[in-house]
Amino acid sequence: MKNVPRVTVAVDTPQHAGLGSLLDYTHGEPLPPGTLVRVPLGKRELTGVVWHRADGPAATDAQLRPLAEVLDAIAPLPAAWRQLVEFSAGYYQRSVGEVAMSVLPPELRKLGATAVSRRMARLQAPVSAGSAPSPTSLTEEQAGVLDALAEPPEGVPAAERQPTLLHGVTGSGKTEIYLRQAERVLAAGRQALVLVPEINLTPQLEARFAERFPGRVLVSQHSGMTAAQRLKAWLLAHTGKADLVLGTRLAVFVPLPRLGLIVVDEEHDPSFKQQEGARYSARDLAVYRARQENCAVILGSATPSLESWQRVIEGRYRRLVLAGRVGGGTLPHVRIVDMGQLPKQRGAPPVLAPALLQAVTERIERGEQSLLLLNRRGYAPVLHCGACDWKSACPHCSAWRVFHKSDRTLRCHHCAYTERVPKACPDCGNLDIAPIGRGTEKLEEQLGTLLPGARIARIDADSTRLAGALQSQLAAVHAGDVDVLVGTQIVAKGHDFRRITLVAAVNPDGALFASDFRAPERLYSLLMQAAGRAGRDAEQAARSEMWVQTWHPRHTLYAALRTGDFEQFAADQLAERRAAGLPPYTHLALLRAEAKDAAMATAFLHEATRVAAGLPGSDAVTLYPPVPPTLARVAGIERVQMLAESASRPALQRLLAAWLPELHALKARHRSVQRWAVDVDPLAI
Ligand SMILES: [Zn+2]
Ligand SMILES: [Zn+2]
Repeated sequence: MKNVPRVTVAVDTPQHAGLGSLLDYTHGEPLPPGTLVRVPLGKRELTGVVWHRADGPAATDAQLRPLAEVLDAIAPLPAAWRQLVEFSAGYYQRSVGEVAMSVLPPELRKLGATAVSRRMARLQAPVSAGSAPSPTSLTEEQAGVLDALAEPPEGVPAAERQPTLLHGVTGSGKTEIYLRQAERVLAAGRQALVLVPEINLTPQLEARFAERFPGRVLVSQHSGMTAAQRLKAWLLAHTGKADLVLGTRLAVFVPLPRLGLIVVDEEHDPSFKQQEGARYSARDLAVYRARQENCAVILGSATPSLESWQRVIEGRYRRLVLAGRVGGGTLPHVRIVDMGQLPKQRGAPPVLAPALLQAVTERIERGEQSLLLLNRRGYAPVLHCGACDWKSACPHCSAWRVFHKSDRTLRCHHCAYTERVPKACPDCGNLDIAPIGRGTEKLEEQLGTLLPGARIARIDADSTRLAGALQSQLAAVHAGDVDVLVGTQIVAKGHDFRRITLVAAVNPDGALFASDFRAPERLYSLLMQAAGRAGRDAEQAARSEMWVQTWHPRHTLYAALRTGDFEQFAADQLAERRAAGLPPYTHLALLRAEAKDAAMATAFLHEATRVAAGLPGSDAVTLYPPVPPTLARVAGIERVQMLAESASRPALQRLLAAWLPELHALKARHRSVQRWAVDVDPLAI
């Protein structure tokens, strides 16, 4: 019998099929790894990537089916891309096929060879139509940072160059550094990849890069694009026609044959961590990818993640600093208001401290703007009956339904279950049911009373639900049509407000005592970013203020905020993390199980613990008992989770690698468990 060449293909097979994700097929001739192909699987036809099988091809099998077709209009995906996928799959405990297919443009998974060829034939690079850039002058600090970024230090081989943490206060001109560094890389004939945390921030950045690089090809990559746009941009990057790629976390996987620079802006932002499927950290993968492809990586932030900060302390990252704001402005003066000291009105403290209200009023009179930050949308977080203690619980989740006054609904922010607000208490018929607490809607309403005549606008996930709403609301703020802006964290990120001279955090204390160990880090970062919205113009900076209303005025977090001393804040937090045995001093993975009945999920996790005993690495890993997370029930499904912790990352990885196949087998015996997943380096526990 004639020997027919065999090719191994990575495909996204359903996990329960138990096939693994590397399947063998026959083909008339050998194909190079990275080639995109269509293959039959059962009755379906799927796209896959030709892969190199580490353990060699499977034994001869007369049953092997032939490939359906080869998508040969597209060059094979490079070795570096396959290595990145393989590393991600191993580290985050997913199959190679699942990761490979989930990071390719969705459209590519559907098209056959003919359709792909047509797309390739039509592929035209959109050249940026920017005008000649006006030369901006650099601050001394910026010039120093660019000098440091110019070459690897004397005697250090390029392969050993360290990732750079660019630690720059808001308004210090980090973007200018990205632009100049990209300019150098492009001039050397290479490509640059810039990652940002939010889709909302891409248009602004795109405009700035497009203006700066006339004649260059600049493409985006994020989930807000249409399938056709994403595929086109991806093809331009992969074929080397695009010079610059801007995108959100998924862009870290875009193949770039001439990659010379990766920038991760706002590297501390939690949205760089994928929360579904392969739960990868795009920031961490960016660092891995830069080392592997021997290019520079810059992680930029005003409030670096404690993980990156720790790596600076250990000497694994180098830190470059921009401590001053461009134009010489200073960060706003921080004023801490002790809510416990305020006179109460009918038993409750006022919405805004009298001094803060006065400060806002003065700004309105001067034609300046104020930003009031409240990280809770809706009118009130819960409705309450004073007679029988009924509360607006969600029947499907372990959470309260939020009262939205504008459309008189009770809405669950976790499962979206929505009902009209009842006229009377559903339990006892009492007509006097009242909202407790305050969300942005209520704050907006109360400000209307406190500041008669003021033009008040609200920006949050509710006000920006419609496409284009955020852009038009921001435009109104920029045009000066707004005196007071009320908003959630959406407004704290990145937007360049020129007329805001006062920022106030109305009620930020919740995060100080949250069960999530990263909550203080996120609060500090949010407040620093919010503070950075004020006084962007040097001339206004001197009278810019950041107000914080708190019941805990002596908390170390606020002390560090007042002095702007990130190093002190980081030192305090790291000491706490070390004492509590938390990252970056330990390495964590969460095993989650979901079932209709919590007992079923718990039983699965208990058995998982027994299975782990004796597996490689298990002696250096602590497995904690299964517990329900803070939000235990969502949409009628109970979640239970279990923490695996180790001082040794390799030990944890060894255990996970041996454990996962056992867990797949275990799941087959626990049919009541609907889903289970491993989250390596979880954001919250
Ligand atoms: Zn009642
Ligand atoms: Zn719900």
